[in-house]
Amino acid sequence: MPITLSAPELQAVEQDLDRQAAAGLITPKLRIKWDVALGILFIHLAALFALKSSLFTWKAFWTFFVLQWITGGVGITLGFHRLLTHRSFHPPKWLEYFVTLLGCLALQGGPLKWVATHRVHHAFSDRPQDPHSPTRGFWWAHVLWLFAYDDVLDHPVKYLRYVPELARDRVHRWMNDTYVWHTVALGALLFAFGGWPCVVWGIFVRLVFVYHSTWLVNSAAHIWGYRTYQTNEGSTNNWWVALLTYGEGWHNNHHAYPSSAAHGLRWWEVDLTYATIRLLAMAGLARDIRLPRGSPAKMTPISEAVRRLQRFPLPVPTVFSV
Ligand SMILES: [Zn+2]
Ligand SMILES: [Zn+2]
Repeated sequence: MPITLSAPELQAVEQDLDRQAAAGLITPKLRIKWDVALGILFIHLAALFALKSSLFTWKAFWTFFVLQWITGGVGITLGFHRLLTHRSFHPPKWLEYFVTLLGCLALQGGPLKWVATHRVHHAFSDRPQDPHSPTRGFWWAHVLWLFAYDDVLDHPVKYLRYVPELARDRVHRWMNDTYVWHTVALGALLFAFGGWPCVVWGIFVRLVFVYHSTWLVNSAAHIWGYRTYQTNEGSTNNWWVALLTYGEGWHNNHHAYPSSAAHGLRWWEVDLTYATIRLLAMAGLARDIRLPRGSPAKMTPISEAVRRLQRFPLPVPTVFSV
């Protein structure tokens, strides 16, 4: 059922927004990051070259397939998310740096900024301060939020307050500052390896595929699916997002137990990233693997009024009824 607001509830939303804005917690006006918007547009347009049959080779396709797992599955899911953001297991330091480098190759921002953004998402899920809540519409949560300037997360130093331990690490800071250049270097290597077909498939098609897979966790896995835990925010368990993202689609489980290395918690909730972490442990490369313990995390209740925030004039999907 779509959420409808009574007049007093709407007034409460306005008062709440005014308080948030006065406290500097939300951006009162949209400021667009044109470099990000045009960069993502360019990557999508370049991926269209894959439609040219002369740019298809099986070598290029398998380059895409292997690299989407290495950069999306290992770099972003296992590295940026389960390791750096939530510290759900402990690898040797060299392996931590290596998977962080793989995450940089997904071109989703530097590790410090990515982790800070995700920690804010957990702290304020589906609240006004959440960077990518679908309470502002599917497309906002999926991609549009990336184009809006955020006073804290886009500030040159303010966002570091959410990642103090990474900010102290010189290697992580270096990767944060140079993340774009690693993809440029990979592009040059792929050109030497297999010419333009490998560049188109291994860089552009792969980036678009991994982008939308990751973005679906923020959009679809906060709208569609089932909820095992009542966490007082909108996360859901979504099987097809879990398949695309190596287990990240079990997102309601994850909000309930954020530091668990396993996101799939029932036998049929397939979680290839957790399987990878177990393999690392068998090889002696991961210890202190954390699993769900105690009662699930639950945010303080939020009124329907505040949850239905429409700070920007974007459509709210009527399917959002959790
Ligand atoms: Zn979430
Ligand atoms: Zn998380």
